Amino acid sequence: MPSVYIKTYGCQMNERDSEAVAAQLVAKGYSLARSEAAADVILLNTCSVRDLAEQKALRKMENVAAETRRKRPGVVLGFLGCMAQSRGRELIDRLPDVDLVIGTQKFHRVAEHLDDLLAGRRDQVVDVAAEEGSEATIRGHLLDGNARKSVTAFVSIMQGCNQYCTFCIVPYTRGEERSRSIPDIIAEGAELVARGVKEITLLGQIVTSYGKRELPVQNGKSAFVQLLEAVHGIEGLERIRFTSPHPKGYGDDLVDAYARLPKLCESAHLPVQSGSDRVLKLMHRGYTRRRYLEIIEKLRRARPGIGISTDLIVGFPGETEADFEETLSLVREVEFDQAYLFKYSPRRDTPAAGMAGQLPQPVKEERNQRLLELINEVAQRRYQNLVGRRTQILVEGPSKKNPARMSGRTRCNKIVVFEGSERHRGRLVEVEITRAGSFTLYGDPEILNPEPITDSRP
Ligand code: SF4
Repeated sequence: MPSVYIKTYGCQMNERDSEAVAAQLVAKGYSLARSEAAADVILLNTCSVRDLAEQKALRKMENVAAETRRKRPGVVLGFLGCMAQSRGRELIDRLPDVDLVIGTQKFHRVAEHLDDLLAGRRDQVVDVAAEEGSEATIRGHLLDGNARKSVTAFVSIMQGCNQYCTFCIVPYTRGEERSRSIPDIIAEGAELVARGVKEITLLGQIVTSYGKRELPVQNGKSAFVQLLEAVHGIEGLERIRFTSPHPKGYGDDLVDAYARLPKLCESAHLPVQSGSDRVLKLMHRGYTRRRYLEIIEKLRRARPGIGISTDLIVGFPGETEADFEETLSLVREVEFDQAYLFKYSPRRDTPAAGMAGQLPQPVKEERNQRLLELINEVAQRRYQNLVGRRTQILVEGPSKKNPARMSGRTRCNKIVVFEGSERHRGRLVEVEITRAGSFTLYGDPEILNPEPITDSRP
């Protein structure tokens, strides 16, 4: 059977989609190639959130096509995902060497299209139509990747977004919100736990909107909170996380879930994007600075020590120096543990791309630099404050930077590196934090408790 190489650009949703495509192909007998040089099929799973990501994928495909067509003309080349969805056939018009273009609702059809192409039944395939029920098809997992068991897994609970933030291309590439059913998600979660998974992250473009149309509010609990409760009931599961939520989805029922559900980790990624109400309105975010701060306060009251991260955009059209100062002051006020910073990049067909007041690149660069320095300074302080404390980690495997050491994650989502061994993988252990680096903590091996601790609270 042929071998396939998949390169993924962009977010965790794309990583998850690529994993599901790989699992689908492995189940059909394909092998996974470690590099494109040896692969019979080369697929690029693309991202459209920033122009840079699209340009990178286009350049990569140009280079791959130039290289492989000369030496191995039979290799199948394909684009998957967001850019494939938004550009469709245009990609083949631009790069005629491309054989396959698969949109965001068609990942589950990759194997059948590849069969047709490899058997010579078709020359090229473009499949970007909407498909009812496709949100329930991102299911397959590759838990034994790298010949080692995974202890954490992502479960896709929904697709699409109806928020239409003015800067974002996602509603156009991923479509309207569509949610899987709770029993379907629980069945996948239980299967993962039976295969050794200890921590599940529920995944979607806007997870807090899960099931809004399909499931009525019950006893004051939104569909998303009902789902969290159901996942919490999976026997053997130790930890639950979710990403990405929207601040407007943090009602009191969700805040209360943090206080009630011990498996729900005290960690929240709350994308704020800007500290200025004027800019938030232009962005169509649906909350104010005050409301955002209220949510943070309630979360910190429900779970003291909760890890809070965010996304921020600098240089949105019309952002004044005063607006930007409000973002700086919000970062000082909240004291985020981690923040992901993006320079505004106009995306075609989005309202913000046509707004007046587009800012010059040097202004974006300068604001980006100032905000980055502040984020790092705040985070360093927060990480430093953890030195000397004992905390629970779930050991995930060897550290990416130094495979001779093991690495785990605290409940508030911070990486801890320590001198452990394979026997610790998948275990909940308690460590004392001895040192803080840049977005990494270090634990002392001498006080490492190799026995699983029963109380899953920190
Ligand atoms: S909530 Fe806004 S930023 Fe997030 S995916 Fe939806 S439109 Fe994009």
